[in-house]
Amino acid sequence: MPDLFDDDFREPPRRKTVCPIIDVHTHLRDVRNTQVLVDAARLYDVVKIVGITDFETSRRLTDAFPGMFHYAVWFDYRHLADPVRFVRDNVKLCEQAARSGFKMIKFWFKPEFTVPHGVEFDDERLADVHAAMGELGLIALIHIADPDIWFERRYADSALWGTKAEQYPQLENALDRTPAMRVIAAHMAGDPEHLDHLDRMLADHANLYCDTSATKWMARELGRQGEKARQFFDKWRDRLLFGTDIVVRESWTPRLYRSRYWIHRKLWESDTVEPLPIEDADSDGQPMLTGLDLPEDVLERILYRNAAELLDQ
Ligand SMILES: [Zn+2]
Repeated sequence: MPDLFDDDFREPPRRKTVCPIIDVHTHLRDVRNTQVLVDAARLYDVVKIVGITDFETSRRLTDAFPGMFHYAVWFDYRHLADPVRFVRDNVKLCEQAARSGFKMIKFWFKPEFTVPHGVEFDDERLADVHAAMGELGLIALIHIADPDIWFERRYADSALWGTKAEQYPQLENALDRTPAMRVIAAHMAGDPEHLDHLDRMLADHANLYCDTSATKWMARELGRQGEKARQFFDKWRDRLLFGTDIVVRESWTPRLYRSRYWIHRKLWESDTVEPLPIEDADSDGQPMLTGLDLPEDVLERILYRNAAELLDQ
């Protein structure tokens, strides 16, 4: 292995700003495994994490890590074939989430899901669920599309999977149908490759936010857009939220968790140009990590304040 992969990331890169950090997108497990994420997060100034989990696990995690977590619960995709039950179960899920202090419902409407299941985010069966979320103040966290390169390779058959652009009407229709529902579209709405597209969607939908999660994808695509990405973050500083999409796994070492926060630190807060210190299966050759060196007031909004405001409502 080259030296590139030797860093253990115990030494967080220098910060440009001093604000605390909120990570709005992670996937949690039991206390023992989640401890490793919490240790890495604390080392990197992350004071609060939104984690996707179930109600039972959330209670144990709150006991173990008081004040560290807000929670999201997966939408219940069972019973799609029985619309009455499907809506009733999911409205109940939203009510339980709100009662339990959960902040978000997690949705997956990328091609791998929408095509085999024949349902999209703007489906009639979701209208009442979205309305309930709006009333209860629950935020939708949604994965809507994958990297361009997946559409070239994995979804190359566009007659089957649709084009990347064809993934978005379901999101925009739902945003328009339920303005009271706030939506965080994960991974820069799945389209960090096309900031003009994100710019247009953010301008058209006041209830749309994006998170910066998926470390390799963001580093690969945003770094190479340099000044354009900087301007985008400056313009939409109130609607972008820091997230990692770290998935707590049995197999993950502490070093792997730290590496994600380390890369994000360099991407947002530095002007580094160096090889990305982890492997990236979606890149031809080792990609460069190019820091965006965002201004301090923009960093403060994206790393902390936007999430603090959204989660407090
Ligand atoms: Zn995720």
